[in-house]
Amino acid sequence: MNTTFSKKTIDDVSVKGKKVLVRVDFNVPLDENKNITDDNRIVESLPTIKKILKDGGTPILMSHLGRPKGKPKPEFSLAPVAKRLGELLSLKVIMAPDCVGEETRRVVASAKPGEVVLLENLRFHAEEEADDENFAKQLASLGEVYVNDAFGSAHRAHASTEGVTRFLKPAVAGYLMEKELRYLSQAVGNPNRPYVAIIGGAKISGKIDVINNLLGKVDALIIGGGMMFTFLKAMGKEIGNSILEEDKVDLAKGLLEKAKSAEGSVSRGGAKLLLPVDCMVAEKFENTAAKKVVSVDAIPQGWVGMDIGPESIDLFRDEILKSKTVVWNGPMGVFEMTNFEAGTKAVAEALVDATKRGASTIVGGGDSAAAIAKFGLESKVSHVSTGGGASLEFLEGKTLPGVAALDNK
Ligand code: AMP
Repeated sequence: MNTTFSKKTIDDVSVKGKKVLVRVDFNVPLDENKNITDDNRIVESLPTIKKILKDGGTPILMSHLGRPKGKPKPEFSLAPVAKRLGELLSLKVIMAPDCVGEETRRVVASAKPGEVVLLENLRFHAEEEADDENFAKQLASLGEVYVNDAFGSAHRAHASTEGVTRFLKPAVAGYLMEKELRYLSQAVGNPNRPYVAIIGGAKISGKIDVINNLLGKVDALIIGGGMMFTFLKAMGKEIGNSILEEDKVDLAKGLLEKAKSAEGSVSRGGAKLLLPVDCMVAEKFENTAAKKVVSVDAIPQGWVGMDIGPESIDLFRDEILKSKTVVWNGPMGVFEMTNFEAGTKAVAEALVDATKRGASTIVGGGDSAAAIAKFGLESKVSHVSTGGGASLEFLEGKTLPGVAALDNK
């Protein structure tokens, strides 16, 4: 990677003997018995926590979990996370009763270097998401150095990601934050070419800005998933009962025009828009429904488009293998159903093969991260982002408030 990283990191500050307030993303999935079903986010935070411990600091960790809507709710307690983190670090993690207040302050004050404190769920207080100044000040008072390692929350200006930096300096990036930003900023700012982006998922809405922004930057933009049908409709094709955003058809037409007018200058600034040429349709939106492959010009009335077809897979795979930078956001089909996972799986495999050929391959969180994990391929691409929304906003070219708030180098 050749992108210069402009923010200070944990390597630029001394933490010896200090309380280090670290915003982490411990928003992990829990089952009904409060067991953590995927501890990836905890594992990803370990390098930063271990670095602070090694250098003689006391990590005071803070995170949100779920949507308790501004009130203390025991089912959203971070206690199961404290237990899991303790197992991973082989030490006891001290669970604070809250994230602010007298009792919490006492717990933090008595913690020594080598010990780890986890504050209770930030979203037990509505002030967190409101970026309340007084609340941010109280959080800030718990540490002497602030580290943000929660890339997945960096697109939100909350008290623990943005407000706190107004009262606590130095404010620096942790290792996970740094890793995320290095990969994504290289793709956005200085990609090795050819550069291909693959966008899928159910709907265009929510991804319009990213499509628009990428169209001006990539050499090829591949569209798959449910949103392909709104594009096909915009091209005047029959789409049967496939998912359609009626109010986005004109917008899809505009994007098709934009892509067409740019095609003369494909290598820089312009982009080829690649749409599926065939798709897998089903009689019903069900895994066991009757299915068949059809051309996108021959989608039968009453049938539902569930996945891209084999010819599209070949087309997309060729494009991906030609590329030096690949960014992927959104599944190609209803990958949660085994009979309609082939397109998404093939794209994941093409990313793996492109990685072997030296390409930088980035999976942008959310459902594509879930998909690549389902296929067991997450360690075979360059980077799987931990932040769905944050990585999407970054690819849209937006400034992430939680990153902007950190000290410059
Ligand atoms: P998104 O959150 O927009 O990235 O959408 C992800 C969801 O899109 C996944 O749950 C997929 O099942 C769904 N999806 C992908 N392709 C289709 C399709 N052809 N029809 C309906 N849903 C789809």
